[in-house]
Amino acid sequence: MQYVVTPNVDHILCLQGNESFQCAYANAALVLTDGKPVRLALLMLGYTIEETVPGSDLVPAIFSKVSDKQSSLSVFLLGAAPGVAERAATAIHQRWKGVDVVGTYSPPLGFEFESSENHKIVEMVNSANPDVLVVGLGAPKQELWVYNHANELHAGVGLCVGATIDFLAGERMRAPVWMRSVGLEWLHRMLSQPKRLVPRYVKGAIFFPIIVLRQLVSMR
Ligand code: UDP
Repeated sequence: MQYVVTPNVDHILCLQGNESFQCAYANAALVLTDGKPVRLALLMLGYTIEETVPGSDLVPAIFSKVSDKQSSLSVFLLGAAPGVAERAATAIHQRWKGVDVVGTYSPPLGFEFESSENHKIVEMVNSANPDVLVVGLGAPKQELWVYNHANELHAGVGLCVGATIDFLAGERMRAPVWMRSVGLEWLHRMLSQPKRLVPRYVKGAIFFPIIVLRQLVSMR
């Protein structure tokens, strides 16, 4: 199975010195830019990126395309807390005609270290044989899991898309469109889960510019 990753600042930090994560990235079929800071950094490094495509935009955009074209698409939702993917499936069926959620699963904590659990998930996905496997396990877990099992998985494509299943279920709210358009989605997310996300964003604000500067210097 081929898969898509969407790097944000957090991923870039995690990629430093993490060889497994780097391999997962190197083997992705498509790398989309998630977030304006990454786009800005790429511009500074001489790469022109037309637009950012976070996973939480990518998935609804694919579903809308399918619906508009009166086409059909089968989807498996892997990840999020118990019950959330089922609620996301109900919301998807209501909103997008032609999109059929053929399976959902919320793996238990630590599942990635259990070979029997991994085998079970691969079997579940393969027997559902979806066009799209939506993987919402958070980074780097989702990318590593997909990379480690890509050869066994029979799905059209895997999308590593973080909290997208939560958003589809209405479990978490995305930032208003105006905040997203001016690049402030991170602020909305941070305020909605301050305990968990303030340290993450503070770390990003300190180390991401250093990584970009180092890269700029090494290119000169
Ligand atoms: N998650 C999961 N299993 C795990 C760890 C995380 O299903 O072992 C889910 C979590 O419930 C959430 C998603 O993964 O729905 C990741 O959320 P996060 O905000 O970390 O995503 P990101 O910042 O990568 O978009």
